[in-house]
Amino acid sequence: MASIKQTNSSLSFRYRLHGGAEEIGGNFIEVEFAGKRIFLDMGMPLTLPEEGPFSSWEIEKRSTAEIVQAGYLPELPGLYNGTDPSILGIIISHPHKDHFGFIKRASPKIPIYMGEKTRAIIEATAHFIKDYPTFKENILHPISDRARFQLGPFEITPFASDHSAFDSYSLLIRVGGKSLFYSGDLRAHGRKGYFFESLLRDIPRSIDHFLLEGTMMGRPREKRLREVDLANDFTGLLTSRRGLVLVNTSAHNIDRLETIYYSAMNAGRTLIMDNYSAYIYTAIGHPFLPGKAPEVRVFFPVRQCINIKKEATFSTKLTPFMDRRIYADEIAKSPEKYVMLFRDSMLEDFSDRGRRYIPTKCLAGAKHIYSMWDGYWDEMPRTQAFLREHRIRNVAIHCSGHAYKQDLKRLLAAAQPQYAVPIHTEKERRKDFKGIYSSVLPVNKGEWQRI
Ligand SMILES: [Zn+2]
Repeated sequence: MASIKQTNSSLSFRYRLHGGAEEIGGNFIEVEFAGKRIFLDMGMPLTLPEEGPFSSWEIEKRSTAEIVQAGYLPELPGLYNGTDPSILGIIISHPHKDHFGFIKRASPKIPIYMGEKTRAIIEATAHFIKDYPTFKENILHPISDRARFQLGPFEITPFASDHSAFDSYSLLIRVGGKSLFYSGDLRAHGRKGYFFESLLRDIPRSIDHFLLEGTMMGRPREKRLREVDLANDFTGLLTSRRGLVLVNTSAHNIDRLETIYYSAMNAGRTLIMDNYSAYIYTAIGHPFLPGKAPEVRVFFPVRQCINIKKEATFSTKLTPFMDRRIYADEIAKSPEKYVMLFRDSMLEDFSDRGRRYIPTKCLAGAKHIYSMWDGYWDEMPRTQAFLREHRIRNVAIHCSGHAYKQDLKRLLAAAQPQYAVPIHTEKERRKDFKGIYSSVLPVNKGEWQRI
């Protein structure tokens, strides 16, 4: 029976969406031709229907069999135990967990393809956050912009894209005279918007199925800001001569860090990174590193100091930043000189308990800039309480990592695929794609779709 199944499936180019079909996040696409298979991303869901945010920490404790049993991963034993020779590889589009979060569950025998900086960011983060993969046992291959490669019968071309994650790609898959284009996550309004414009010029006009992310389809009222526009708002707040400014943003949003850095320079303030952020920027060789950019200083939160001591990671996590290190007493002397990257885990660093802590008098006249998607705000009750307790003004400055509806429309108009397939969007938003393209094909989770 198995051989008959094999013969039938070998007749066509087909794919199915194990995640990302009816939700924002969890992208996980299986592509098959002539009995050979590849996977595009292996992401974790961001939220669960009726359950709220998906906990990767909770999942970390469970076995793969349990996760499959719970329905979070599809029943693909060969992917997890490495016994299926038809699986040729997994391609990771960018270093966001909703695109690579389940990669640790794949057998290390299956090669992984991803950008070099994507690998660097994930590996560097694994030194701080335990549920990130280290790739120690994996077979890894780098991908880069327009560097076409062959994986069995599949011809794959990565296109570098503009997104809030560094080193992001869209992927063109050609096989058997047909083609599938996977947008990954992308936008046109970031610091690398030129990638989007060059994609408009170069995208093939012969795509059969265009799997297009539609994160913003459900957020029509969000202002159409560009990343560079945010610098004016940041600079305006940083120019005030009063108080410390705390910026709550993702250490992985490199575009945003650049915006904060330029704004700090314009306003005459020094940027203070925490050592986790500094470690990430070092891993990717970013030019605004402490050491390369003299205005940048590095603060070591108490929790990180304890971890470094416990792990004895002085040479990697401490020594490289010592000449740029800033201590609590230096910040306390003139807090109005600084803008500091900040996150929930650093709340305990503001305390009057002793020398290692930043005294709470520094918070007089301080401002907090919330610079992430507003959906995460509700998950930060401790930060909200901290701001209330110390009467810190909160200001939101942000633009999305995902393309606005008008830009998605421009992309489809340029490509004119046979079908636009909505992914990475809410189930009820899939029909809205009709407003931006004439031929829309919603594909349900787990159902094979032939091309
Ligand atoms: Zn993303």
